[in-house]
Amino acid sequence: MSTKSTDALSRLTNALKVLPNVGPKTAQRMAYELLQHKRAGAEELVAAIQAALLQVHHCRLCNTFCEGDLCDICADHERNPKRLMIVQMPVDVASMEAANCHDGLYFVLMGQVNPAQGADLQAIALEKLISRLQQYEIEEVIIATNFTAEGDATAYILSQLLQNFPAKVTRLARGMPLGGELEYVDAGTLAQAVYERRNIK
Ligand SMILES: [Zn+2]
Repeated sequence: MSTKSTDALSRLTNALKVLPNVGPKTAQRMAYELLQHKRAGAEELVAAIQAALLQVHHCRLCNTFCEGDLCDICADHERNPKRLMIVQMPVDVASMEAANCHDGLYFVLMGQVNPAQGADLQAIALEKLISRLQQYEIEEVIIATNFTAEGDATAYILSQLLQNFPAKVTRLARGMPLGGELEYVDAGTLAQAVYERRNIK
């Protein structure tokens, strides 16, 4: 069956297109590279993807990726549970932790609202956030979305939603570079933006 290997190659090429910013040409180059020079790496990639799919879930409280019921931060009793910082992605939690400027807990939206594409609220974990806010006593909610058009739109949606809750609501100060994604802001600037956060409710 001479077509069999070709079919497997096309299947691999097609599967690789699931990766962000990978079109047909790049996918084909990747497939050739894996099969020609990186067979051991490809085996590890398959095993790593399978393990991650089985083991990685969303934290019950903050929605970030983790392997148990709760992530390390949510399970840490030293943190202040009454101060909740809302960020877009797990990488933002890592940036905040590196800046060492927030002693509370987090909620990770796992996305952002894109005003250019009709501001679809399904893009963020709003329902889980609402149930979190309803179930736990929170004194301050810090909105720490990116300073981009999408981050601003997401912050606006959140500020509207939070009108219905008694907690004080703040947002990071605009000391950050315009168009700034938290991920690329240095720790000192990020810490400053948290310390100088402003009340929005
Ligand atoms: Zn968590």
